[in-house]
Amino acid sequence: RKSAVAAATNYKAPAVPLEFLETTPESVFGANVFSKSVMKKRLPKTIYKSLMQTIEAGAKLDPTAADIVASSMKDWAVEKGATHYTHVFYPLTGGTAEKHDSFMAPTADGGTIAHFSGKELIQGEPDGSSFPTGGIRATHRARGYTIWDVTSPAYILENENGTTLCIPTAFVSWTGEALDKKTPVLRSMQALDAQAQRILKVFGHTAEAFVASTAGPEQEYFLVDRGFFYSRPDLMTAGRSLFGAAPAKGQEFCDHYFGAIPERVLAFMLEVERELYKLGVPIKTRHNEVAPGQYEIAPVFETANLASDHQQLCMMLLKKVAKKYGMECLTHEKPFAGLNGSGKHLNWSLGSSAVGNLLDPGDTPHDNAQFLVFAAAVIRAVHKHQGLLRAVIASAGNDHRLGANEAPPAIISVYLGDQLGDVFEQLKVGGAKSSLPKGTLEVGVDTLPPLDKDAGDRNRTSPFAFTGNRFEFRAVGSNFSISGPLVAMNTIVAESLDYCATKLEADMGGDQSKLNSAVQSLLTEIMTESSSVIFNGDGYSEEWQTEAAKRGLLNRKTTPEALQGLLEPHVKEMFSKYKVLSERELESRYEIYAEQYWMTVEVEALLCKKMAKTMIFPAAIRFQNELASTCANLKAVGYSFDTDTLDKVTALVKLLQDAITQLDKATEDGYHDIYKCCNEILPAMLEVRKYADELETIVADDLWPLPTYQEMLFIK
Ligand code: ADP
Ligand code: MG
Repeated sequence: RKSAVAAATNYKAPAVPLEFLETTPESVFGANVFSKSVMKKRLPKTIYKSLMQTIEAGAKLDPTAADIVASSMKDWAVEKGATHYTHVFYPLTGGTAEKHDSFMAPTADGGTIAHFSGKELIQGEPDGSSFPTGGIRATHRARGYTIWDVTSPAYILENENGTTLCIPTAFVSWTGEALDKKTPVLRSMQALDAQAQRILKVFGHTAEAFVASTAGPEQEYFLVDRGFFYSRPDLMTAGRSLFGAAPAKGQEFCDHYFGAIPERVLAFMLEVERELYKLGVPIKTRHNEVAPGQYEIAPVFETANLASDHQQLCMMLLKKVAKKYGMECLTHEKPFAGLNGSGKHLNWSLGSSAVGNLLDPGDTPHDNAQFLVFAAAVIRAVHKHQGLLRAVIASAGNDHRLGANEAPPAIISVYLGDQLGDVFEQLKVGGAKSSLPKGTLEVGVDTLPPLDKDAGDRNRTSPFAFTGNRFEFRAVGSNFSISGPLVAMNTIVAESLDYCATKLEADMGGDQSKLNSAVQSLLTEIMTESSSVIFNGDGYSEEWQTEAAKRGLLNRKTTPEALQGLLEPHVKEMFSKYKVLSERELESRYEIYAEQYWMTVEVEALLCKKMAKTMIFPAAIRFQNELASTCANLKAVGYSFDTDTLDKVTALVKLLQDAITQLDKATEDGYHDIYKCCNEILPAMLEVRKYADELETIVADDLWPLPTYQEMLFIK
């Protein structure tokens, strides 16, 4: 531990290469992407046009174009030094997977040439048998295919030891079932587009551009010096500290938040941003977060599928570049007890190039009415599917965060802000009979007042907040792929828009002059049924827990409970109806997430026992021994004294041992029961921690084996 402290203190970060400072983001942006502009330059016009139809308007991919695209992509990649290509895919572990193949093909004369066919571009077959499938395929029938996703551009990844062409792909089983996170995102985007178009039609738009969901994920993370990281088996293996007494100074002073960024960290950030720019990821924001050692990075939003792929790249590069600067990047939701955890705020909206952002209130009353229908559809969706939204953010890591006094509670509610909240309140009492005093608020095209763009203050405690022109799902965990939450949001809103469109179409019966009254009655009805999910107050408060229960809102505090939200009949029906996930695909997700949960608890419990037995207990008895021999020596020379500290250490050692025994008992039958993990094993681990942390505050510092919170958080 002492040598880790010394190494961290003397660490000299590599200087930021001058070229980083001298090149502008614009000059490197997208340099390693097989982007639209590269394609335009390199592809025959007709091929380029047909690809754009697929990428921009969602048209079917023309497979005959593939050979030409493949060859052009290969030439481009080889010019940039690539020797291999890989189909990148996104298995249900939440990570990113790749298998590399060389471009080299043997020639008749015994040499080789670089070769890449359309078939190789479109479809690959990695041996994906070791990825979790939740029962979709048996291990002996492991066929899985990766399929080129044209809508997410290929890119080049430069590593010190080689350059690779990366092709984002979907990963499906031989039977066509989605084994990955990308396929459902693409399906859910289609479902959302179809229903959004119907609403737009009601408002007089003719079907034009594809209505896509957009996403802007804000990523929080911690950085710790690598020396400390490797001296802590818990950080290394579980991503979070299972032990550690609170430091004398934590985050109380709020002096870290938005503070000046330390030099080493800034150098790291510069390099991460530069690498991401090269890959066309539009990183925009960086700052210190609330806890010491905690930071945030955020891009400008993009369409959901692309944002999701880019988010995976972002996490990967944060981890990779951190090592170069002698640090480790922790994306766990709660690496340090007692300090803020990390989330991923997922900003979400929908729109198209033709109609713009559909959650933007706009400046005119007409836009307002359309906006209100879309916003009401979201509110209805969140109310109806609280359980699903809670399920898609459930994990062992996020359980430490949700409901702690720093993250949104486990209750899913919607924050609207004062102005919008008020509009919807009025709509609720408005009634279909338009009993409102004339002129105040009919959603009539004529009378609705224009809304401000920032209609209201921000709310930090809500899990799902309207933030002026988008909703922000703030309860997503920092270690999550954003795909799951995106799939849920796209699909529940598609269902809700379907409901709204069906109602409006029926009420109007083709008569456009009935638009206002149809909209008014729809909104009133939605508000009457769903407004209990709207909450503009303090989500951290005790009163909200009681109030939410009164309102009948779900409050599923832990993952085992929350995951049941995937299995409810109305959820299964919805996913099947919109062809996003079949019943089997949905059940496979449940299986996998439940398995990930207990496996996480298992790893943590094993670590907890090992560290308690082999690191903490020995330190404690060494100290106890020192105290005892001091006492014996003093007694021998005739001193009389109290043995307070020795008594205390002795008592704590005993308590620690008992707690370890209890943990051993709790885990006797294994870990497969997720409720047992949650209700017995995790609490038993906390008991062990309690005595270990107390020992840390009295055992001689030079005997303590683990880097302390103070060291890990404050030495940079
Ligand atoms: P804050 O910390 O205030 O929430 P940030 O600037 O850190 O704000 O992040 C806001 C995120 O919301 C950015 O990624 C931004 O691009 C994204 N965003 C803005 N408009 C939209 C939209 N229409 N759809 C999705 N995301 C959006
Ligand atoms: Mg935010």
